[in-house]
Amino acid sequence: MKTTNILIAFLFLAAPMAARTECIVTYTFDDGLEDQYTLAYPMFREAGVPATFFIVGSKIGDPKGFRSKVERDTPLMTWEQVRDMAANGMEIASHGWAHAKYAKMDRAAILDDIRRNQSVLKDSAGIDCVSFASPFSAKKGADGSDVASLAKECGILAVRASVKSAGGSMTAEKLNAIVEAAKNTGDWIVFMTHGIARGYDAWENPEELRRHLNWVKNQKDVRVLTFADAAKARTESRGSSTADDIARYERGGQLSADPSEVPVDAPKDMKLILCIGQSNMAGRAKPTDEDRAVVMNAYKLNRDNKWVVAKAPYHFDKKVAAVGPVDDFVRLYLKDHPGETVGVVPCAVGGSPLVSWTPGEKGRRGANLRVALERVKAAKANGKFIAVLWHQGETDAAKATSEQLAEYYPRDFKAMIEAVRREIGDVPVIAGEIGRWMRKDGDHAAKINPVINSLTNAVPNCAIASSEGLKNQDAHHFDREGQRVLAARYYEEFKKCAAH
Ligand SMILES: [Zn+2]
Repeated sequence: MKTTNILIAFLFLAAPMAARTECIVTYTFDDGLEDQYTLAYPMFREAGVPATFFIVGSKIGDPKGFRSKVERDTPLMTWEQVRDMAANGMEIASHGWAHAKYAKMDRAAILDDIRRNQSVLKDSAGIDCVSFASPFSAKKGADGSDVASLAKECGILAVRASVKSAGGSMTAEKLNAIVEAAKNTGDWIVFMTHGIARGYDAWENPEELRRHLNWVKNQKDVRVLTFADAAKARTESRGSSTADDIARYERGGQLSADPSEVPVDAPKDMKLILCIGQSNMAGRAKPTDEDRAVVMNAYKLNRDNKWVVAKAPYHFDKKVAAVGPVDDFVRLYLKDHPGETVGVVPCAVGGSPLVSWTPGEKGRRGANLRVALERVKAAKANGKFIAVLWHQGETDAAKATSEQLAEYYPRDFKAMIEAVRREIGDVPVIAGEIGRWMRKDGDHAAKINPVINSLTNAVPNCAIASSEGLKNQDAHHFDREGQRVLAARYYEEFKKCAAH
């Protein structure tokens, strides 16, 4: 492997980012103490933000804890607990096998210790570990060997080098102030904690951590990422991770990337969702703070067919793209399927007529379908499609008569779905009724919704989400509450289809 292709994050807290970028906060917990699982982990789940746990493989499951004075009698978490955290969006990282003193060991002994921890994390918890924190923060072995380079030889991509201590007498206000300061500089803050209620550097009051997390999750310019995700975000630029960028960062220079737009290595076993249609699928509803926060265990395919972390807006058809049905659909799915990861393939285009989604070789006919199929092909490398979400009809209802709609809409819809299913298999297709307020220049909803409801006759494994009672925020678009209810109806119909 060429060094230039490997990401190593040597972290410098003071390294400034471009001022307009968000700051990143990473919470790290060392040594695998049981309290971190029983007390801290629930706080992170409650807040919906991730953390990174640096595990010492040889100590896992030991009820007596470390022999050192400070951590004596602090029990360690079990492998079951490690697996539970890994399945719920937390990063499990390596702190070496034996918490050994690398400064007194040679290259071969250090390599053995790191490798052994890598393989026990794989065997006991199925984890391909990519992050590493050196025990006792040792940087050099007894023979002068470089610990970070040795870790790299064992498959590690990101090495923790610099931290801010949390715990002890730290309060929520003090932690908030550190993050506030980083907002101005775009810094990456890496917090480190050992004991929670007892043990080394334990919190005087662990509830301060909860208060801080409930504050930080609502900060718009702050992204909470695992150590690995943050290291990637800080060393890759938009679409082109280069040694230059890493070197520039190490020199304290600036990176060009907006971290949430940085492509990531998405999992290969995602459940994929295709979104097609016009503006109410692309979404125009005003996002809430929750919508703007990163959705754990979800990714979206960006306009360059690269995976990035998921958050509103999923679509990019127009500058006004905002919240659509897929936002809450993803949340509902993940709630029902813990441990799974979702990949959204947004393809909807505001104002697009059905003809642009109907198979066609060139020109306007099929123009949007051709793009969507290319994106589907790219997405398939990272999982299997489970659903197609379709919302469209406002444009057609404005132009065609009821008779014309009844004649061509089911026929062309069927041709479109057949083309899509040739790529992704016979997955459930959920279509939605258009908003029922659309009556200004004729009763569009009354004209096309019966036709939309007839699509279940044209296409097998297809269901319809009702728009009954949903409100609009402008002449054409569902409001945020309307999109929430619509998403729940899409999801209910999806569950019924998927059960067959
Ligand atoms: Zn340690």
